[in-house]
Formats: sequence, structure tokens, C-alpha cells
Amino acid sequence: MSRIGINRNKARLGELLGIRARLVLLALVVVGPLMAERIRSLEVNRSRQIAAAAEDFAGLARHSASAQSEVFASVEAVLKSSAYIYTTAAQVNRSCAIMRASLRGDMPWIRSLTVAGKDGTAQCSTWSDAVEHGLNFADRSYFQEALATGEFVVSDYLFSRMTNQPTVMAAYLAPGINASDDAVVLAAVNLGWMSKIMNNLGGRPGVSAVLVDRTGMVLSAPSDQAAEIGKPMPDLALLKLIATQRLNSVRQSGSLSFTAEDGAQRSVSFAALAGTGAELIVSIDETVMSATANHEIRTAYLQLGLVCLFVLLGALVAAERLIIKPIQMLQSMAQRYGHGDWSVRATRNRLPAEFVPLARALYRMATKLRGRERELRASNQQLTVLASIDMLSGLANRRGFQNRLDFEWLKAEQSGDAVALLMIDVDHFKLFNDTYGHPEGDACLARIGEALAALANETSGFAGRYGGEEFCLLLPGSDAARAMRVGEKVRIAISGMSIPHMTSAHRQVTVSVGVASAAPAALQRPMDLVEAADAALYAAKHRGRNAVVEHGFIRAYGTLTSLAG
Ligand code: GH3
Ligand code: MG
Ligand code: MG
Repeated sequence: MSRIGINRNKARLGELLGIRARLVLLALVVVGPLMAERIRSLEVNRSRQIAAAAEDFAGLARHSASAQSEVFASVEAVLKSSAYIYTTAAQVNRSCAIMRASLRGDMPWIRSLTVAGKDGTAQCSTWSDAVEHGLNFADRSYFQEALATGEFVVSDYLFSRMTNQPTVMAAYLAPGINASDDAVVLAAVNLGWMSKIMNNLGGRPGVSAVLVDRTGMVLSAPSDQAAEIGKPMPDLALLKLIATQRLNSVRQSGSLSFTAEDGAQRSVSFAALAGTGAELIVSIDETVMSATANHEIRTAYLQLGLVCLFVLLGALVAAERLIIKPIQMLQSMAQRYGHGDWSVRATRNRLPAEFVPLARALYRMATKLRGRERELRASNQQLTVLASIDMLSGLANRRGFQNRLDFEWLKAEQSGDAVALLMIDVDHFKLFNDTYGHPEGDACLARIGEALAALANETSGFAGRYGGEEFCLLLPGSDAARAMRVGEKVRIAISGMSIPHMTSAHRQVTVSVGVASAAPAALQRPMDLVEAADAALYAAKHRGRNAVVEHGFIRAYGTLTSLAG
């Protein structure tokens, strides 16, 4: 890459890392840690929310399990008291009627009470069809177990022979006076009721709650999961896990985390209903559970992003208003000062306070610069004047004369007037110097200068020292005749000063004058006029000096007046 290309890239990088980028970076440095802290707290919050929800559900599960246990405990109490009443009443042969009358009507979870004899035949029932249809429970395992053990027994899920509805049967032995009189009191548990008291576990996305029997058959579930009732629970593998968990612990309830068949991470709370073989299982899909928390976190992230964006935009706007604009303003002030416009002054109310001293300093500097510029201009003018003046004679020097000639030439070009020029040379001045010394020569030149200045004043001409002992007199608007007259005046004036010059033939200082006059249209350039006057001067010298000769030798004054060309 060429050097220019590299420099250009450097400049671009410089722009990128300009004050705006730096301020945005600064804002990020300030906002970054705050954002990181906010993100961390959001993440902690998410974990806490999930943990709290899981804990909440575990509590609910425990609560629901104890409600279910209550139900079974009350069923047990009812069976025991019914068995007692039945056994006692059997002696008075009114046992069935008494037992039916004693059944409390405020226990909606008991659908029916039936007493079956040792042979399993229904003898007495709150549901009269049971006796009429001669229902027999002899083949039911819970019946056999209750008869054999005398314990309170709860069946697994089954279909009632009486109502053909899904149910769970509870059985308890009602011992007769003789073993042959033994009977079993049976209660059909209302699974609908069981489901009802689980409803507090329903209606929550990602949460499934089921009461299962030993085989994993769903006995009851909240109303939104009612379709599960009477079917094996969805994740049977879970049962094994729960059983293992329970083996390792003496507790009848607990919780565990596992990955379900569908790959979802689930946290499970379980509670066994003591003495029933039934189990309440609440399983929570953590992904669904965390969805709400995730949504909240997403919203929080969005808010955070917006805040960041506003902070960055704010930083940019602030940088623009508080730094870039004032800098641009000062820059434009400096530029205008640079172009000589001293009128600009920063308005205090448009600049932030920090920039006011800088603006003031800039203004003070500009004021000083303006003063210096004025001084510089004045001294330049002085220099220009000095550069155009000959100090010895007090007349314009060659440069000053040249300028004036150009100017008058231009004027004449416009007016069409003629310009006349007299070239005046001191005669035998070398000899004068040789005779009287150089300082005396200088004094002589000064006196001649004075005389020419007076003559120029008189004739509205412009006198100058062309170089050495050679002078010139410019006569704008003069034709050759007038110029010749003025030339003669000059010659007479100088010789009239009677400055002694022993080594000159005239015994005093004299001058020779060459005259030329022309309208600019006739010549090409001002130098042509000078050359013409010079040629005339040469002719005057040639004629013996102390003479005035016009260019072309048309007219001549002085000692030699020959008109020969
Ligand atoms: P001519 O009549 O042909 O002009 O003779 P000239 O001697 O005047 O001419 P030349 O060119 O031979 O000599 C000019 C002299 O003028 C030589 C120089 O020493 C003298 N001169 C020129 N400038 C100055 C000056 O500033 N001061 C003094 N004192 N002498 C000067
Ligand atoms: Mg001379
Ligand atoms: Mg000369």
C-alpha cells in the first residue's frame, strides 16, 4: 500500500476514534458493569423463581396428599365404626337398618357402604340394588385380605360391580360372634371427590398431578387432567424411580429430578398415602415452568438493551452539543480570524461554561493579531515608501521612478495624452569627484536633487534619481515643445547654481538633458520612452554637454544646437 493510502487509513482510524467514539466508549465503560450486574441479578432471580415455584408445588403436593390421607383416614374410621355398629346390631337382627341409618350423609367421598358375608355375598348396602342383585366380593383380593388380616385394606383401581364406575374399594373386617358370622364392611370411594380435592394442583402449565394406585393406574387427577383417570400414568418409569428413592429413605414423601421420555427435565414431588398403597405424584416440567421466568427475563433484557441504547444516544447527543459543537464553533471562529474577519465573537450563551475561557483567549489573541497586522501593514507601507526613495537626493529612486512611469503611462493610455521624459546627467562628474572628493560629490548631487524637486513642483512633474549622477524628470501630459522648455529650465537652473567645477570646460557644474515625448499609442512600452530620452542625452553629451537635446535631434538647446541627425 502506498504511503498516501496508509496515511489516509490512519486519518480514517483517527476519525473513528474521534471524540464521539471515545465518549461512546466511556459511556459503555460506565454502563457495562451496571449491565453485567443487572444480568447477573436477573439470572439469579430466574433460578430463585424456579426454585420457589418447585418448592411451592412440593408444598401443594404435600398438602393435597395429606387431604387425600384425611379422606382415607375418614373412610377407615367410617368402616371401623360401621363394622362395630354392624357387629353389635347383628345381635338384635336389625343390624342392616341400623348401620344404614348410622351412616353420615356429610361424607361425599363415600359412594356406598356394603356389608358382605364371609362368602362374599352382599348382605346389606346403602345401595339397595347390591343386595337385590346378590353381588359377591369373594373373588376380590381386597375382600380376601380384609377377611384374612382383619386390617383396613384399600384396593387398587377397579370398576365397581355395583355401578360399573371406576372406584377404589376400602374393606374392614366386622367380626361375628362365631367365625362363620364374620363379615366385611366395604366402602366404595368416590374417585370424583378425590379428584376434586386435587383441583388446587391443576390449571398450571407444565404441572401434572395424579393419584396412582400400586400399579401406577391413575385414580384421580385435577379436572384439567381428568382424561388420565383410569389409565396407567404417563411416565411409568417414574414409579420405579420413586420406589428406589423411597427405599433409600424412611420418608413417605420426597422429591427428585429426572429427565422424562420426551427429554424434558422434570422435578417430581411424591407422597404415599399411608396404608392405602396409593401415591400422589406431582411432576413439574422445568422448561414450561421457567418459560414465565424466561419471558420476564427477556422483557428485562429488552428494557436493559433500550436503556443502554438511550445511554449511548444520550452520550452521543451530549458529546455533539457539549463538545463537538463548541469545538466546531471555535474552529470556525479561528478560521474567520485567519481570513481577516475580526468581527466574530463567540456568544457566551451558546457555549458551555468550560469553553468560555478558551473562546475569550481566542478572541484576545485575535485582537492582538489584528493590532499586529495593522502595525505590519503600516511598516510594510513605510518600507515600500523607503524602498522607492533615494536618501541622498530625497527624490524617488529608480524603482520609485519606474512605478510612477508605469502609472503615468497607463493614465496616458486611457487619456491619449503624451508623456514626456527628461534624462538629466551631470557633466564630467567623475572629474568633480576626482577634484573635490566623493563627499563633496554627494553634497553636489543632493543640491541638484533639491533643485530638481523644486522644478518638478513648479512644472507638475515627477523627479527621480535614475542612478549615479543621472536624474530624470517625468512630465505627464507634456508635448515635446513643453518638455524642451522644461529641459532648458533645468539646464539653466543647474548652471545657475554656479557650483564650481574647475576641471570642467564650463568651470561650473552643468548638466546635459535628453528629452523624449510620446503618446503611449506611438510606442510599445514605457522603456521605449526611457531609451529614447537616453539616446537624446547621449546626443547632448556628444554635442559638448551642458545641452538639451530632444530625441531625433529635432530641437536642441545649449552650447551646441546643431540639428544634424
Ligand atoms: P559625462 O560628462 O560623460 O557624464 O562624464 P562623467 O564623468 O560624469 O561620467 P562617468 O560615467 O565617466 O562618471 C560618472 C561618475 O559619477 C563616476 C562616479 O564616481 C560618480 N558617481 C556616481 N554616483 C555617485 C555618488 O553617489 N556620489 C558621488 N560622489 N559620485 C558618484
Ligand atoms: Mg555624467
Ligand atoms: Mg552618467
